[in-house]
Amino acid sequence: MEGKKIFNTKLCATNEEVKKHALDYSMFTWSPQKHIKTIAVQTADGCYYWDYQGKKYFDLCSQLTCVNIGHGNQKVHAAIQRQMENVSFVKPKFTTDVRGAAAEMIIRNFAPANMRKVLFSLGGAESNEYAVRMAQTATGRQKIFSQYNSYHGSTYGAANLTGEAGRNVGVYPAAGYVHFFGPACKDQFQGFFRNDEEESAFFLKMLEEQLICEGPQTVAAIFLEVITGGNGAIVSPKSYVQGVRALCDKYGILMVIDEVLTGFGRTGKPFAIQHYDVEPDMITFAKGVTSAYLPLGGVILSESLSAYYDEVGVPIGCTYNSHPMSCAAALANMEILLEDDLIQKCKERGELLEQGLEKLVQEHTCLKERRGIALLQGVKMQDQFCTRKMLTKIFKLFAESGYPTNGNQGLILFAPPFIVTEKEIEGILAVADQIFTKMDEYIDE
Ligand code: PLP
Repeated sequence: MEGKKIFNTKLCATNEEVKKHALDYSMFTWSPQKHIKTIAVQTADGCYYWDYQGKKYFDLCSQLTCVNIGHGNQKVHAAIQRQMENVSFVKPKFTTDVRGAAAEMIIRNFAPANMRKVLFSLGGAESNEYAVRMAQTATGRQKIFSQYNSYHGSTYGAANLTGEAGRNVGVYPAAGYVHFFGPACKDQFQGFFRNDEEESAFFLKMLEEQLICEGPQTVAAIFLEVITGGNGAIVSPKSYVQGVRALCDKYGILMVIDEVLTGFGRTGKPFAIQHYDVEPDMITFAKGVTSAYLPLGGVILSESLSAYYDEVGVPIGCTYNSHPMSCAAALANMEILLEDDLIQKCKERGELLEQGLEKLVQEHTCLKERRGIALLQGVKMQDQFCTRKMLTKIFKLFAESGYPTNGNQGLILFAPPFIVTEKEIEGILAVADQIFTKMDEYIDE
């Protein structure tokens, strides 16, 4: 079998046995259990993974846009093992060398200049929960604003923050969460604006009026994904993000940027907010900080917010806070990002992918447009393909070609690991070309 050496198998032998075993005793997320379609993954290396019968797949979406340095990196494995041999866990009140080192690395080498300290968590939703609590405590205000068509996680507070029709349906509303329309709602406002300036002016006016109606003195924070991930790789105009900063300053509201998916290089800069010349008050992160080798997330706080919490108790404490194993993985992952210049590679390879996808959009009538930046790219299907049936067909074709991918609302995501080669990008584009050629045949005459 092509692939890596296999350790510790023989629990189950075939793909079907592995899947059945998992389905019999564990729950999968987001779907009714009887509708689950899964791939049983035995090994992974670089941009590839293999199932239990040796079928090879290309990781077109870095799993959930998180395995940014690729699978099986030996430096990360060694760092995790070293930490495990020293000590695998200490309670959050104690500390280890990797905790300070990982936090310092984030502050000195990745975060915007005004950022000063890191509060670690274990994932994206938890980071957003923390940011809500930190903002409410620091401002003494309760309300939290976030955009429609945003995704911030699936725990209770994060699900209330999430503004995506579909993924927060059925969530009992918590008090104080307010949603607003903004550039993430590009599809709903298609054709309304002639340019970015008109779009920014409209959405900023709407936001300010909504703040006034809600009482700005009651609003603790505005959360933004400046470049959406799960919801369509939509890049907000610079003037909009700068305008939100100005509104926050005007009304004493904290600006929180959710960089759970975009952080640590995915957009060709360490953080997406660095495309905007804006200094936020908090940044939430997860995924790319460890490239998902182990779970870790966190909140990065500005100098002034960090100073505030010198005097006031941090309103949070979880058993696994600043977990040494995760901090060791994060440190090694960040060293690799820097040593191998992977954020620059993400930018350059992203430009190649972008050019290729633009060409596909020109050539295929089934495609409406390309969106995104660096290695966070997507193509939007024409409206007639945005049905469950057609989208299922398209994703099935990608999976059968060995390139399973993710997407949402008619957008097909292309977000491979930063180590993707030029040749592999050609391979991705060739497969996409074949699939979209098939889809063109469905276009109504
Ligand atoms: N915020 C954004 C922008 C995300 O993309 C995600 C997950 O995809 C989350 C928050 C939630 O992160 P997690 O799944 O680690 O809880």
